[in-house]
Amino acid sequence: IARNPGEREFHQAVEEVFESLHLVLEKHPEYMDGSVLERMCEPERQIIFRVPWTDDGGTVHINRGFRVQFNSALGPYKGGLRFHPDVLLGTVKFLSFEQVFKNSLTGLPIGGGKGGSDFDPKGRSEGEIMRFCQSFMTEAYRHIGDKVDVPAGDIGVGRREIGYLFGQHKRITNRYEAGAITGKGTTWGGSLLRPEATGYGTVYFTEHMLRAAGEGMDGRRVAVSGSGNVALHAIEKVQELGGTVIAASDSAGHVHDPEGIDLELLREVKEVRRERISAYAEARPHARHHSGAVWTRGDLEDVEVALPCATQNEIDADAARRLVSNGVRVVAEGANMPCTPQAVQIFRENRLLFAPGKAANAGGVAVSALEMQQNASRDSWTAEYTDERLAGTMEHIHTLCAETAKEYGVPGDYVAGANIAGFLRVADAMIAQGVI
Ligand code: NDP
Repeated sequence: IARNPGEREFHQAVEEVFESLHLVLEKHPEYMDGSVLERMCEPERQIIFRVPWTDDGGTVHINRGFRVQFNSALGPYKGGLRFHPDVLLGTVKFLSFEQVFKNSLTGLPIGGGKGGSDFDPKGRSEGEIMRFCQSFMTEAYRHIGDKVDVPAGDIGVGRREIGYLFGQHKRITNRYEAGAITGKGTTWGGSLLRPEATGYGTVYFTEHMLRAAGEGMDGRRVAVSGSGNVALHAIEKVQELGGTVIAASDSAGHVHDPEGIDLELLREVKEVRRERISAYAEARPHARHHSGAVWTRGDLEDVEVALPCATQNEIDADAARRLVSNGVRVVAEGANMPCTPQAVQIFRENRLLFAPGKAANAGGVAVSALEMQQNASRDSWTAEYTDERLAGTMEHIHTLCAETAKEYGVPGDYVAGANIAGFLRVADAMIAQGVI
């Protein structure tokens, strides 16, 4: 904490992982050698840079850009870019630390990194977004490449932004290096199913947890937070598997629709009209809009499954107690670290099925790695084949977490299972590669 002052979310992410590792160290004290643990929480490289850009009125703005290249023991750094006014170095460090373990769990050859900027894309014109992305990449390109570091999207960075970033990378480097960035358009190197992968993958993982408990998603009532990329695709997959989603949100409030979210309408509001989620409730007779997060209300009493898919720390201890007393039995993190440590503790004490983000939302980065494979072989796979690979990866991660938890004496504890399994693969590679 003294070395990294003010990086609250980073401390939280490190503590959450290290809390599980005593189980490993009791069995295998050799992991204490060679400062593996210290190296594990010290990024290999942190890049902070100025991003100057000019708005439509001619005013110059200065934002701050970040890329944290955390760990390359398993492959090139891989992880998204987040454009949001709250982004600080500590935010990017927490996200990249989590990414190391998540990428390890996929079994694919990718290290962990993450980046972003405190730029707020809301209300900005197409031209402003493009100029910002071009300026960001004008510095970032030095650190990016298919064998070095491969960014993708995250909050505030979707296909449009990836297009502008990729275009500038191509222009500056004079190389069509398709595998340098993932989340591209499908006509120019992007993988089919990449936009869907995180949300679908979260629901596949949830379905595996339910099945292991002798149930399934069919007939379950589900609350989702967010209405961005992850949330919309999670809603779609829940509905496909026979569940009913009765809530969704954005940063200004949430909607409660007891008859089940009309996904087509929600997409129209959020993706086509780019309006606030309140417009959804205005168009649906039984739906109600409320200010505040989904998890702040007590009227979700018949919800059994909660899928937080918006942002970090959205479920605190009070919200967790409310969910438990309402009868929620399953929580899977579609977002990164949406539950505070206190909330996670409450879920574990009450023996809920709880899936941490590094396991549940790993489907996105897994399909990003498959996009890199397609780019490397100049091939493009069908959506069916990619979905099969995604489903297989989520099954693998579920089995790995469940079996690791059992092996270390905490059966059913997906948090410990994910932290330990993620750690072991990275730690073994670091040890094999020497003290570097
Ligand atoms: P989007 O930008 O597409 O959507 C984010 C959603 O969350 C929006 O509905 C947004 O509301 C809401 N939101 C953002 N910040 C806040 C906040 N402070 N309070 C309340 N609501 C908020 O992002 P994604 O769907 O891509 O990402 C969502 C989460 O999933 C993030 O934690 C991300 O790191 C994680 N994730 C994403 C992956 C991906 O493939 N995209 C991969 C793995 C994890 P509004 O529209 O009002 O801003």
